[in-house]
Amino acid sequence: MLRPFLLLLLLTTLLFSASAKHELDGAKKNLYSSSKDKQFRAYDTYKRHYIKALINGDVKTQKRCLDGICIAGKKLRIDVSDYEKKLSKLESKKTSQQSSAQKTKNSPATKTEKIKPVKSKKEKNVKIRSRHALSGFTWEGNALVLDFDFTLKAKDVNYFKLRPEGKKGYRYIFDVNAIVYKKPVIKHKEIKRITISQYKRDTIRIVIESKKELKPRFKRDGSSLVITLGVSKVLAPKAKQIPRVTKKNKLIIIDPGHGGRDGGAVGFKKYLEKTIVLQISKRLAKLLRQEGYRVKMTRDRDKTLSLKWRTKFTRKNKPDLFLSIHANAVPKKNAHKARGVEIYYLDPKKGSKRSSRLERKENAADYKAMDSSISKLFSATQSRAKVLESNFLAIDLGQNVVSRLRDKKYKVKDAKVAGGNFWVLVGATSAAALVEVGFVSHSKEVKMLINKRYQQAFAEGLADGVDQYFMNKERR
Ligand SMILES: [Zn+2]
Repeated sequence: MLRPFLLLLLLTTLLFSASAKHELDGAKKNLYSSSKDKQFRAYDTYKRHYIKALINGDVKTQKRCLDGICIAGKKLRIDVSDYEKKLSKLESKKTSQQSSAQKTKNSPATKTEKIKPVKSKKEKNVKIRSRHALSGFTWEGNALVLDFDFTLKAKDVNYFKLRPEGKKGYRYIFDVNAIVYKKPVIKHKEIKRITISQYKRDTIRIVIESKKELKPRFKRDGSSLVITLGVSKVLAPKAKQIPRVTKKNKLIIIDPGHGGRDGGAVGFKKYLEKTIVLQISKRLAKLLRQEGYRVKMTRDRDKTLSLKWRTKFTRKNKPDLFLSIHANAVPKKNAHKARGVEIYYLDPKKGSKRSSRLERKENAADYKAMDSSISKLFSATQSRAKVLESNFLAIDLGQNVVSRLRDKKYKVKDAKVAGGNFWVLVGATSAAALVEVGFVSHSKEVKMLINKRYQQAFAEGLADGVDQYFMNKERR
């Protein structure tokens, strides 16, 4: 009797680990996707498997999952500091843990020993968290005020927007580190649904579903979370928005790529990169100025500029944000395949095959002629903090552009976000991104790119992204 039982146990273990591997491989793929939805799924998968690995005493999987949780957390702006601590603890105990994990597999006695400390830690967490609860809500005009029985800190609230492809409407999600005893029924005549649920043991999730696009703003006010929905007001054109005070102090440099003798990429029917990017850049500059930002452009007409001049100009002006606008192209044989928005941030450590080809293209002809001082500056100015900020910026830009374009019924795929080595971004001392608006080599995409309505929607999406970036930055 014993033998078939053991066989069954072995089989289940094998099957389980095979499906776990499959799921974790899928999570890894999603983790590096530019879609927030997918990143979120990856985050959830890693968390689930982390718990399982904890129970099984599988340290290797624990580390893999913690690693995934931390990367996803940073992308999604979820506070993962606890997991980071756990990961560094595991890594420091690497040798001793590995040998004990090996034992665990063979002897059930050690297994129970290992689970114990984990359990007690969990119980402790529950006790601390259980005091943090949602106590009620009120409406103040279009502002939803959620009251908690503790003072909210920045890390207690995480906001993000979901707009899954193929689904109608918008979902605005607030995760709060708290619990809810009695779920309140919240209604608003212009909003499809507002739900509150206990999403995780210590996290409640507030989901605001709307058919129309909203621009929720939120602030922490002691023990209250004030979410301003701005229902009908916000649906008015962007330009009519009241500029926020903080915007007035923000300088944004827009750098339309190429110009003059340098036409940039030559596309289908000889459409030029330099012309398209200037048109979109000018629309963006106008929108941002209307909103109250200060904007400077490296060029506002067809003019030849050296890369060196661009970096110098940027360094001198010290912008709060730098955007270089470009358009992409691939050789003819691949022209029908390559399309879509790509956003790059400067990351000296990264650079995929794809982006290195692009790097050569965008780094311009005078790239080799640049003196070593810029090269030194390159490594000196690239702090990890700036890389991370630029990564956040690129995500916000990509998401908002795609969201805005889909809103206008354009079929676009999710924006690609990646790190790379682009010289033009070196001059910026703060967050910077290089936007590839699309492929001029694609016969259909280039027709959209020269279309005024498309250009306007694109610029609006970028402006939304800039807004969202600064809004999130204030909370970091
Ligand atoms: Zn370019």
